[in-house]
Amino acid sequence: MRAEIVAVGTELLLGQIADTNAQWISERLAEIGVDVVHHQVVGDNLLRIQEAIGLAASRADVVLVSGGLGPTEDDITRDAVAAVLGVGMVRRPEIEDQLREKFAAFGRGEMSANNLRQADVPEGATIIVPRRGTAPGLSVRVGAAWLYAVPGVPDEMMEMVTEVIVPELTARGGEGVVRSKVLRCAGIGESRIAEILVDLFRSSENPSLAYLASSGEAKVRLTAKAGSAQEADALIAPLADEVLRRLGDVVFTAEDETLEEAVGRLLRGAGATLACAESVTGGSVGARITAVPGASAYFMGSAVVYAAEAKHSLLGVSLETMAQAGVVSEACAREMAAGARSVFGADLGLALTGAAGPQPHAGAAAGTVWIALDAIERSHAVGYRWRVERDRVRRWAEQAGLDLVRRYLEGRELPPGDRLD
Ligand code: ATP
Ligand code: MG
Repeated sequence: MRAEIVAVGTELLLGQIADTNAQWISERLAEIGVDVVHHQVVGDNLLRIQEAIGLAASRADVVLVSGGLGPTEDDITRDAVAAVLGVGMVRRPEIEDQLREKFAAFGRGEMSANNLRQADVPEGATIIVPRRGTAPGLSVRVGAAWLYAVPGVPDEMMEMVTEVIVPELTARGGEGVVRSKVLRCAGIGESRIAEILVDLFRSSENPSLAYLASSGEAKVRLTAKAGSAQEADALIAPLADEVLRRLGDVVFTAEDETLEEAVGRLLRGAGATLACAESVTGGSVGARITAVPGASAYFMGSAVVYAAEAKHSLLGVSLETMAQAGVVSEACAREMAAGARSVFGADLGLALTGAAGPQPHAGAAAGTVWIALDAIERSHAVGYRWRVERDRVRRWAEQAGLDLVRRYLEGRELPPGDRLD
């Protein structure tokens, strides 16, 4: 099955936003074995949207249109679909009722006439009822192709794709089941993984291997196609074992959880609590940990101690340490971690201090980061020197910090102290 994605929105063409919807939809379709063969982006212009949809429907089996389903004048995807089909618009009373109910529930008072535009649907189209937003999606046959239109707002789009479109395409596909398993890794680059797995990568077709890198993390995805989910899983299992054996403890999960979720799971399992002291990351480690529901069971808090004075007065880092070794140092990181552990009364203290750049800071070269973990029986510190720009230094510091906690809780070897190459 071949698919084409049409993203509608002038802001995409102006470069004000990136077409992350097409990226996300493409990933979901790849997972179910649907080949995405084209992406189109088109502005809020009736004729050009019509053209784009017509072209897509002429060459793909499935067309996914995102955006332009809202209530405003520039939301004209519905009209374009009707024009392509050569049909009129009909007002659907059930959508009208739902819109009135949602408006009442949101407490937004009387609904404006514009909002009723969302109740107008091309004749013959099926509605995808929205849970979160107000804009209904559409599903309709265009010639030999199936067309789906979903709202541009990512949350609303994702809901319809996962709950309606993916199941429908899977059922319609008849091409068997595609299953994948993702191994997520920290503390290793994509290129190093590719080296370790090169022969497997070349020899594996079903299941196939793919590498995906995002900031500070590398993923290995194993994908198999088979007649049933069980068969696909059985194809994946031996390859997954071999990949795991080779990559070892850099793999922090085979369950597609985030690093902060893995850390949360491990802390919960150990019945342990964590506190942080963040300088270089400015609180983003705490933000990630607390993004996981239920984090209050194991996370005590994070002290954002940016200034030397704050490190001293809030966490008790000694003035001599900072004067002699500097604030970006092993000694300072260790004292921050110990301070966080004691101030918050946690079992573990994690501290991050560094020079994110672009300028050197406190005598440390840009990209230098010291991370320390303090536990009752031991304290461990690791120093890094990353030659990348500021944002990445901060992101990599988060990853390395969370991964240090993960390794400690799993009883793994901790990274060697000094990695300042
Ligand atoms: P609404 O009911 O909010 O108007 P809509 O279907 O009309 O929904 P658009 O008006 O096209 O959607 O887009 C709404 C917002 O969704 C955009 O301002 C943008 O933030 C986001 N968005 C739209 N298209 C995309 C896209 N392709 N990728 C990422 N974000 C998008
Ligand atoms: Mg809109």
